[in-house]
Amino acid sequence: MKIHTILVLLLLIAVIVFGLYKYNQYQEYISRPMPTNLHPLVEDARDQLIDEAEKIGISILITDGFRSSEEQEAIYAKGRTTEGSIVTYAKAGESYHNYGLAIDFAIQPNPGEAIWDMEYDGNNNGESDWMEVVAIAKSLGFSWGGDFSQFKDYPHLQMNFGLSIRELKMGKRPRDVIDNKNL
Ligand SMILES: [Zn+2]
Repeated sequence: MKIHTILVLLLLIAVIVFGLYKYNQYQEYISRPMPTNLHPLVEDARDQLIDEAEKIGISILITDGFRSSEEQEAIYAKGRTTEGSIVTYAKAGESYHNYGLAIDFAIQPNPGEAIWDMEYDGNNNGESDWMEVVAIAKSLGFSWGGDFSQFKDYPHLQMNFGLSIRELKMGKRPRDVIDNKNL
């Protein structure tokens, strides 16, 4: 055989092996179940957020965390097939909440109360409590829905670990991109 033929054969084998590897990985990803809880790192960050906010005199309420596909379907229906106004543009499997990677918050001026007033300055330091919470959240690694370019979602905080919804839908998970494989 000519060296040229051998090289072409080797290349062909490499392409086939790589293809099989990718196919297996795809099969493994796609068979993964949907998460059923908030991701442990998001849970920790949520608790830290509550504590840090408390330290500067802001009490917050976590109004939403993990959301199942059924729950997502129900809120997607709001303002479309059921009564009320539209609250989300994400169908089941299209929200970071469905992967346990997002939380929503509100300010709690008094126990049992929740407000979404972004001007409110309950700790009287001349700054909006809302934006103070957002700043803490960002320092903990959250990205804020108020920074989204299309649909602004001010109570929303998420950690995407560099994963797009498309990748999450395909079964990719934070443990595929972070060092600690137990997570
Ligand atoms: Zn949200």
